[in-house]
Amino acid sequence: MGYEALARKWRPKQFADVVGQEHVTRTLANAIRNNRLHHAYLFVGPRGIGKTSIARIFAKALCCENGGPTETPCDTCSSCREIAAGNSLDVIEIDGASNNNVDQVRELRDTVKFAPVRGAFKIYLIDEVHMLSAGAFNALLKTLEEPPSHVKFIFATTEPEKVLPTIISRCQRFDLRRIPVGLIVDRLTQIVQADGVNAEADALLAVARGAEGGLRDAESALDQLIAFTGNTITEADVLAVFGLVSRETLQKLVDSILEGDVRQLLRITGDLDHAGKDLQRLLVELISYFRNLLVCLHVEDVERELTLPPEQVKVYVTQAGKSNTGRLLRVVTMLSDAEDRMRYALSRRVLLETVLIRCARAATVVTLEEILEKIQALRDGDLASPQEVSARNVRQEAEFRSRATDPSRNVSPSDTVSLREEASAETALEQDPDADAKTFVLLQSCWSEVVKRMRKIAVGSSVAIDDLLPLSVEGNYVTLGFPLEFRERMEVLFHKRVQAGLHQILRRFLERDIVVRLEGYDEKPIQMEVPSHVSAGGASDKGAGGMKRNSRAAWYQDPHVQAVLEAFNGELTDIRHTQ
Ligand SMILES: [Zn+2]
Repeated sequence: MGYEALARKWRPKQFADVVGQEHVTRTLANAIRNNRLHHAYLFVGPRGIGKTSIARIFAKALCCENGGPTETPCDTCSSCREIAAGNSLDVIEIDGASNNNVDQVRELRDTVKFAPVRGAFKIYLIDEVHMLSAGAFNALLKTLEEPPSHVKFIFATTEPEKVLPTIISRCQRFDLRRIPVGLIVDRLTQIVQADGVNAEADALLAVARGAEGGLRDAESALDQLIAFTGNTITEADVLAVFGLVSRETLQKLVDSILEGDVRQLLRITGDLDHAGKDLQRLLVELISYFRNLLVCLHVEDVERELTLPPEQVKVYVTQAGKSNTGRLLRVVTMLSDAEDRMRYALSRRVLLETVLIRCARAATVVTLEEILEKIQALRDGDLASPQEVSARNVRQEAEFRSRATDPSRNVSPSDTVSLREEASAETALEQDPDADAKTFVLLQSCWSEVVKRMRKIAVGSSVAIDDLLPLSVEGNYVTLGFPLEFRERMEVLFHKRVQAGLHQILRRFLERDIVVRLEGYDEKPIQMEVPSHVSAGGASDKGAGGMKRNSRAAWYQDPHVQAVLEAFNGELTDIRHTQ
């Protein structure tokens, strides 16, 4: 047997085989079962999503010699076989695009009168019905008004707004959906397995993304790829052939928007532009990406809703967790607005960059509604309890430290509390032989707070700041380490502005004048040893409320204050005592 295109080979034969259009196939099957057949149907939807396939199955179902009309045509009788092969005398297929003159439609009108050759129905399938001329439409309308009982019309169109309202009103209309990516991936997986082709999961995902909901396009693309690459298909092949952006890059770009990391965002956009990627296409992909993040915030069974592989869903859920509905909606709105303008933009790259920077701002700026919500939450006592907040902080701390240092050296939460209290007794600090060690522990305990604040000051260098780590305290010298491996991206830490910010923040937290030293380390950073009695000091019996509050650092550490700072993404600027 000769070569057969995948789309043709895998064309669905039964209603149950049709992918992603259950709302249509179920209704049609029900109509057949309950003998409630209409005389004209209109299938609406973009190309390649199953309009013609469903129409043919419907025709087979009506004409099948084994019990037709039936929901499950037999596919073996001569009627079924002739319809499948496109040479049935009772099923007349007309392409609106090439048969749009009045005479042809008149001819159709004349043949309508004749009884079907084989079965009970004579079926006219008119594809791209909107392409018919006005005269042809009118001729058709006459037939539609009083069709003989054995005649059924099935129309398909990609542009329903161009079909005469008088025709639409005489039809039962079905709007077919773009097929979800996950369903297309499932079908492609089935095809490559049956055909013995090796394809990476990401490669099939990229094909599905590229097809924008059209199964036929996806199948044709797969055909093309098999011809192009042989029996092994990688994601890189797909991206190269279709000018798409890799899933990983897309993910990083979204991360940089969510984190307000403008520098990274510009770098990625620049790279993509250099690589000749389709930026308009990228914008469309970003819109659907952010839409998926919104789904994650509002739907319980995300995996089912998005019909995507679990690993991909996991990434979405994590990213969605970094944002909220209001912010994501603003981003989607901005991206959608830009989509229209993109078509006419002189420089797509400049437009894209501007829009993405605005998105990054929108994704990180706190809105008035959010503030009001938080105030309401505080009033209702709904906010995370102090215990939760401090537990979370300790956890973040631990995560951060365990990245670079020996976990056994971690300071336990209770130690930090007791030390914080001692540190807050400022007078004792000067003569204390353990002063450096205590300051170091204090520094470690508030490090995540320092990082958070630094990220706000040095927008665009958050990657460098995340990699920074406290190494030691010696008198007034605070030494911070950075991995030499990432020397280049750490350069930003030596900028005057960043240095000044770092200095100011550390001074504020440690409540003393300090000098910041930066030190590169090769593999493992060597952190200051903390004597055991410093970390093993007696646990606090005063509790958070009884703590001395003459120290700003102590205020920062207070769980209630932290809850408020966190809620407003705020900063402690002034401490005033009442009474
Ligand atoms: Zn049959």
